[in-house]
Amino acid sequence: MAPSAYLKLYSSGVLRERADEALRVLHHCQLCPRKCNVNRLEDKVGLCQTGSMALVASYGPHFGEEAPLVGVNGSGTIFFAGCNLLCCFCQNADISHSVAHASTVAPQQLAEIMLELQHTGCHNINLVTPSHIVPQFLQALLLAVDQGLTLPIVYNTSGYDTVETLQLLDGIIDIYMPDIKFWNAETATRYAKAPDYPKIVRKAVREMYRQVGNLVVDEQGQAVRGLLVRHLLMPGLDEETNAILKFLADSVSLDTYINIMDQYHPSGNANQYPELMRSLATDARATACQYARSLGLHRIDERDLAGLLQRIASLQQ
Ligand code: SF4
Repeated sequence: MAPSAYLKLYSSGVLRERADEALRVLHHCQLCPRKCNVNRLEDKVGLCQTGSMALVASYGPHFGEEAPLVGVNGSGTIFFAGCNLLCCFCQNADISHSVAHASTVAPQQLAEIMLELQHTGCHNINLVTPSHIVPQFLQALLLAVDQGLTLPIVYNTSGYDTVETLQLLDGIIDIYMPDIKFWNAETATRYAKAPDYPKIVRKAVREMYRQVGNLVVDEQGQAVRGLLVRHLLMPGLDEETNAILKFLADSVSLDTYINIMDQYHPSGNANQYPELMRSLATDARATACQYARSLGLHRIDERDLAGLLQRIASLQQ
């Protein structure tokens, strides 16, 4: 596997400069589009409920991610508590909307978690919901590289990321995995109180693509670099799905690797929105995939259930 790009930036000193620059942003936090302007270095918190240290809900090898991330030994997933988007239907609301049960981790502890995942044999470090802890991650990465980390880094995000923050990660993140959720401002307002989400995520995805290009996999089928886009199908939002797919085809790349996900079920506070208390149509995914292919998009993640069961069985032996 090719060495991760961040090793070069570590050697040249650029990684340290970026980590320092990112830390300064926390002084009047404008790390994400919420622009809360709180001094997180003094542990004041904004919408993401996270102060100077990252909060980790759990970590470990994960086998439920896309096949190019999971390989044989799993994706080294770190679930951060808190979130800067806070969708009302979030399936992880217990850790994204509340940080009560998370552990506060200093940079050295976060570095040790990454090294432990590497030692376990995971194929990558998968940062889940990292938009609000970019500076903390960079501080930890400096320490982890110094102690031997070489795995590719996956930035697994809602896509509510500013271009400025993403530019701090240029040459550091190997695989960007944004979830494009909504197309219309009205929808993003209703479900996440983020009217600017559609504009922001479109800019963010184009910046991610500029940095890493299309997804590249090695001879074992494991992702080494590139963009992997997720889209969760939602009841009644078929037209937004189509607009998102068209955006990817027209404004990103026909070679974009996409996971069109149909596991929606009402969670979090969805019960306050009657239109969300429904299941998807049984053919929703097939219809969306067919539309994606009609646009020329051809790298659509196929769920490899047999492969997943095989990997879990091999771990239990
Ligand atoms: S990272 Fe958190 S505190 Fe900073 S602007 Fe975003 S939501 Fe607010």
